Amino acid sequence: MMHRVLVLNATYEPLSIVSVQRAIILLLKEKAELIEAAGERLHASHTSLPVPLVIRLVYYVRLPHPIFLAPTRKSVALRDNFTCQYCGAAPGRPLLTMDHILPRSRGGQTTRENVVIACRTCNMRKGNRTPDEAGMVLRKRAGRPHYLAFLLLSETAVRDVWSKYVYS
Ligand SMILES: [Zn+2]
Repeated sequence: MMHRVLVLNATYEPLSIVSVQRAIILLLKEKAELIEAAGERLHASHTSLPVPLVIRLVYYVRLPHPIFLAPTRKSVALRDNFTCQYCGAAPGRPLLTMDHILPRSRGGQTTRENVVIACRTCNMRKGNRTPDEAGMVLRKRAGRPHYLAFLLLSETAVRDVWSKYVYS
């Protein structure tokens, strides 16, 4: 099985995604430590290693240009656990919409901080108003995701293990 490995910075922030091979090199060179492993092991000539899922760099890496991904309905739905952030309904993916907390018509940007998943009813009810104006309460603050980690989250088998780092 070839999956990918989530690399955490020394601070435990998600940093990047690498191949298993690359992760093992980092582990063997003691540039990273193993945080989460799969059940199976990799067998080399004289040793066997657990298959890494999440590793953490020993040294802090400063990112010159942190990469933030533009939010999509799918990525926001994942972050918000497919749950309307106003009423808590979970009507299923096709019935969820991406709501701009500050409406676009009033200068709201499509950024992580300004979008949440909402059911159609709540989105319609809110209309071109802020939550305050509409008398609606957000269940939690919208947040920016960490770096690249969202990019490959469709690898569902790995996602559960990664999620506690990515959505922390
Ligand atoms: Zn709703």
